[in-house]
Amino acid sequence: MAIAGNHLKMQQLNLKNLSLQEMEDLVSSLGEKPYRVHQIYEWVFQKDVSSIGEMTNLSKNLRNQLSELSYISRLSIADKRVSKDGTEKYLLMLEDGNSIESVLIPDEDRLTLCISTQVGCKLNCAFCLTGKGGFIRNLNHYEIIEQILSVRREKKDIINIVLMGMGEPLDNYENVIKSIKTMISPHGLKIPAKRITLSTSGLIPEIKKLAKENLKINLAVSLNASDNETRDKIMPLSKKYPIEELLKTLKEYPLPPNRRITFEYVMIKRLNDSIEDAKKLSNILKGIKCKINLIPFNSYEGVDYEAPDYKNVEDFRNILISQHYTTIIRKSKGADISAACGQLRGKWQG
Ligand code: SAH
Ligand code: SF4
Repeated sequence: MAIAGNHLKMQQLNLKNLSLQEMEDLVSSLGEKPYRVHQIYEWVFQKDVSSIGEMTNLSKNLRNQLSELSYISRLSIADKRVSKDGTEKYLLMLEDGNSIESVLIPDEDRLTLCISTQVGCKLNCAFCLTGKGGFIRNLNHYEIIEQILSVRREKKDIINIVLMGMGEPLDNYENVIKSIKTMISPHGLKIPAKRITLSTSGLIPEIKKLAKENLKINLAVSLNASDNETRDKIMPLSKKYPIEELLKTLKEYPLPPNRRITFEYVMIKRLNDSIEDAKKLSNILKGIKCKINLIPFNSYEGVDYEAPDYKNVEDFRNILISQHYTTIIRKSKGADISAACGQLRGKWQG
């Protein structure tokens, strides 16, 4: 019986995997009026119901029809860890047995949720634990959005969403853009675009494509070096997309008013943390409306790199500030539960 049930479910549509456009197609295929599209979308993404039966403003007939060809499901939170500093890490089980992590970060008076976009990552940056585990697969719309919904069920007041967890968002372009559209839609999650930040390691063609989407979200770029030689050592994609080309693309990136690109710079001892590196960085970023986040390298078992001395991080920041760059040292949160940048692996033992 259970197998037959699962089999049936496989054939059905997961309503949480549908874009607004796809919901429109579904509703019109049922011969229903267009206003039903927004009603159903709001039940799924705003009221977060767990069954079609709860959609009480739909006719009984429509609910029956929908139940026959679709379903709503949830990802289960397999485990949760809480750091001394209040950061929470969620392990979510996917339906195929893979798992991913999302991290909830309290920041002064607001909560930021860091979500994943892939199981693993292809880009293999030398300092990143996610990259070390290789690539398994892309997450779909349902799995990306459900990370927000599942954590929201516990904590209502998530303010910011950052696509900075496991994976390279622009390497899963279609699903990520579809998900961001649902996040910002007034009938979807209703999250203001300025509260969403996508972080990329710098896939130039996809950054150009993203520019044309006009989503008005924030863009963060993991630069992590100020010359190609150093960047090549730690980010294999740099050979394909050199720094000059990346920065040229970002100079042309259309920013909404009063917005800047964020550059992330993971500082690694003796690799990219010298005064000369800071000076080079301030030179190459000239002419780009930006701010800089310095992230001291977060260590993990078996890695060869070391965190920089704090004095170097401060000196580095002071050089950038003296050149009028807004520069923040991102103190990593949740390191005691391996929830800090680059420590996500999606598998827990014990
Ligand atoms: N793939 C995207 C988003 C996920 S990585 C990207 O690379 O931007 C999110 C951030 O974590 C990136 O800025 C990355 O450089 C940083 N990061 C990765 N490993 C890290 C580590 N071990 N310590 C500190 N930051 C790390
Ligand atoms: Fe992938 Fe980003 Fe990690 Fe690089 S830093 S391996 S792009 S997740």
